[in-house]
Amino acid sequence: MIITRFAPSPTGYLHLGHAFSAFNAWKRAREAGGRFLLRLEDIDPGRCRPDYAAAIQEDLAWLGLDWDGPVRVQSEHLGDYQGVLDGLAERGLVYPCFCTRADIAREVAASAAAPHGPDGAPQYPGTCRRLSVTERAERIAAGERFAVRLDMAAAFRPGLYFEEEGEGRITCHPERFGDVVLARKDAPASYHLCVTHDDAMQGVTLVTRGVDLKPATDLHRLLQALMGWSTPVYAHHRLLTDPEGKRLAKRDKAATLRSLRAEGVSARAVIERFGQSQ
Ligand code: GLU
Repeated sequence: MIITRFAPSPTGYLHLGHAFSAFNAWKRAREAGGRFLLRLEDIDPGRCRPDYAAAIQEDLAWLGLDWDGPVRVQSEHLGDYQGVLDGLAERGLVYPCFCTRADIAREVAASAAAPHGPDGAPQYPGTCRRLSVTERAERIAAGERFAVRLDMAAAFRPGLYFEEEGEGRITCHPERFGDVVLARKDAPASYHLCVTHDDAMQGVTLVTRGVDLKPATDLHRLLQALMGWSTPVYAHHRLLTDPEGKRLAKRDKAATLRSLRAEGVSARAVIERFGQSQ
């Protein structure tokens, strides 16, 4: 059975771009007699708000998109993500990183050719990877805050690929991310860890999401391989743009479902727009 999901982060009101993503996932499940799940990815306490979480559910219902089963709320499962991090630590695949942003920027500036990740950010220069076990333990005992990074050299698995609908096998290059953060100093787990964990735990078989997240799939595939989690099929869809061809973003207030509804635009008209732009 096909199981799809929509996994928004409640950091703002749903805009047309999110709604397009939700509609794609919902439609694929409904057409196939499958299940459509809703998951709130609210692990970043600084940016997520409960009123946005409530508004997302209200807006989806207004649009006529119904979901199956209870909503999964990531902040209610922090113990699960911690368990994954602990398991990776026992296998020597992650390490604590005490660096500040400024520390990292300084190191990167000082190195002649700092490789960059798929998101355009420079790869972490590996400073804390080289700390001794004793120094790590001392700094943790002293209460220094730390992020948790994947030790990419230790974790890398060659020959990974995922299935992209309509394209076939895509070879993965997770090494491009370098020692990626799996838990931040100010958030208990990263998007990459939680999304991959939850897609597997919830038995998602088809991940439909914006093409902006396609590069991240390489890393998600590595996490699946490391943890023995299942790999869904992926269908990355194009991003909706405004009339000038600019990508819709959360800051475009005019494109939120709330404001469209307030202007008297019907749910049907919104969905028709998706049909035209598919
Ligand atoms: N929570 C992510 C976001 O709001 C989406 C995750 C996904 O679909 O993989 O961008």
